[in-house]
Amino acid sequence: MPDTHDILLLQGGARTQFAMIPLNLLTPGAVGDYALTGVWARAAYDEAVLVGKAHIAADTREADGSYRRVPRSSELVLDPAAAYLHICSNNTVYGTQWAEYPDTGDVPLIADMTSDIMSRAVDVSRFGMIYAAAQKNLGPSGVVAVIIRKDLIERSRQDIPTIWRYSIHAKNASLYYTPTTFAVAMMRHVLEHAVAIGGISAIETTNREKARRLYAALDARPEYYRLPAAVDSRSLMNVTFFLPTTDDDKRFLAESERRGMVGLKGHRTAGGIRASIYNWVSLADVDALVELITEFGR
Ligand SMILES: *Cc1c(COP(=O)(O)O)cnc(C)c1O
Repeated sequence: MPDTHDILLLQGGARTQFAMIPLNLLTPGAVGDYALTGVWARAAYDEAVLVGKAHIAADTREADGSYRRVPRSSELVLDPAAAYLHICSNNTVYGTQWAEYPDTGDVPLIADMTSDIMSRAVDVSRFGMIYAAAQKNLGPSGVVAVIIRKDLIERSRQDIPTIWRYSIHAKNASLYYTPTTFAVAMMRHVLEHAVAIGGISAIETTNREKARRLYAALDARPEYYRLPAAVDSRSLMNVTFFLPTTDDDKRFLAESERRGMVGLKGHRTAGGIRASIYNWVSLADVDALVELITEFGR
């Protein structure tokens, strides 16, 4: 992380940031650009609309209400004077992810990385702000990591309630309110563990291999498994798929539970199966699922 940026550890969830971003950065007359790629991205936009002016830079929602891909850079309709472009780096519910981040020129890029932070190397200098609620890849819920460019902190609104200002948290080294000490301490253990196992490059290598094995097992049986995510938008964190019928989905889930796997049911709004293979899911765990996918498909 370059010196141009600051790290804040704030309380709440990613949803708290959905509100804090427009509260701080939508100064009177300013517009926030939003790329809508799923429920989280849309929820962030919905908050901005309550606070100021927000503009939809892209919307990949399909007629059936689902999202299968992230937009190509050429599809983004950006306001050159926008205060920022907000994207959701990994769309947890649908299993899509930005493989490459868009080039926004002078417009600060803000990314919700709640479900893929520390899963792969990221060039922080390209972002105005990165934020992540801890609970998927960093530690327990309650703490949100905010990596924000210092000039954005300086530019942010001072006429909003004190507790919502990035500037007050930066000035007080995130100690303006009493921190969620347990969550922060646990996050520190997670970070130390990450360093001990080789840091982000080692984690990224494992994550890519985990995703490769899962997608390969599913792609090997296209007549049985249907993958909703477009190939170039496939997530390394959440692998989503459907069996031929919802009854098959249920049988698959029952068998997975019998084998000691939990949480494979797709998000209630998306259905199907979702394997969330966040940083701390091991290659051995993924191999167990690959075995089930292969046997079941056969
Ligand atoms: C889980 C998730 C959220 C919601 O986080 P909360 O801390 O519950 O508000 C937001 N964005 C993404 C990308 C998520 O995966």
